[in-house]
Amino acid sequence: MNQKGGVGKTTTTVNLGAALTGLDQRVLLIDLDPQGHLSLHVGIDPDTLERSMYDLFTDSAVTAADVVRKIDDDLSVLPAEVNLAGVESELASLSAAGLSQRVLRDKVLPFVAQEKFDFVLMDCPPSLGLLTINALTLAGEVVVPMQAHFLALQGLSKLLETVGHIKKSLNPALVVSGIVLCMHEGQTVLAGEVVADLKSFLDSARSMDVPWRYARLLEPAIRRNIKLAESPSFGKTIFDYAPWCPGANDYRALAQSLLDSGTKA
Ligand code: ADP
Ligand code: MG
Repeated sequence: MNQKGGVGKTTTTVNLGAALTGLDQRVLLIDLDPQGHLSLHVGIDPDTLERSMYDLFTDSAVTAADVVRKIDDDLSVLPAEVNLAGVESELASLSAAGLSQRVLRDKVLPFVAQEKFDFVLMDCPPSLGLLTINALTLAGEVVVPMQAHFLALQGLSKLLETVGHIKKSLNPALVVSGIVLCMHEGQTVLAGEVVADLKSFLDSARSMDVPWRYARLLEPAIRRNIKLAESPSFGKTIFDYAPWCPGANDYRALAQSLLDSGTKA
């Protein structure tokens, strides 16, 4: 998650998920952004969707199995289209009992158990509304894609505050596992300074009782690579589009390092 747009959330969800399938993991991707970019990126035409995340949220009879699309043996997607935007206001009417925040968890957990997914990756919308809160209520871990830009830390405190709030109220096990630097240009002085600031910010939380206490900069950073920007328009993950470009190599290495560190999203 990151409430800023254009930081690499969708690119990371799709390609990290695809990289994990290459390491023999069964992966479910959930598109929680009404823009439906994740669904397009894996080649799903929104016009062909009979059911989507909108129906999962709003129709109690619809299950995840009714919505899921299989991309290949190990990669499945719960797709979204533009009508998902309406869910924020529809859910708000249920929110008195806190029910609206648990819809996703209640529908997805049994499906994950049934299908034996190893990883579930959720692509959040660029906001901290009810869709993101549903994601945080289901999630075990939060990963924050961002750029090493001036003001990178701005916005992070609001995001972490939201995570802290959900941890206290709905999901005590929730942790922030780390930050993925996307479109990274590591050779610049600015990026070096911002990375140093981020590290000292994360280090300052080590002794605090906060959900980002153990958060780290995930390795490696994802370099800026034009192939990563091209592949969505072909409806392909980077591994189907340009499997040995720097972007594919970076996401492959990131997936391996997550497995090695025992992280399970
Ligand atoms: P978000 O989901 O946070 O809005 P996206 O993943 O859609 O962000 O990325 C924003 C734009 O940047 C997209 O056009 C995407 O193709 C491009 N992009 C993302 N990561 C990279 C990268 N490492 N190198 C080059 N372009 C990238
Ligand atoms: Mg996106």
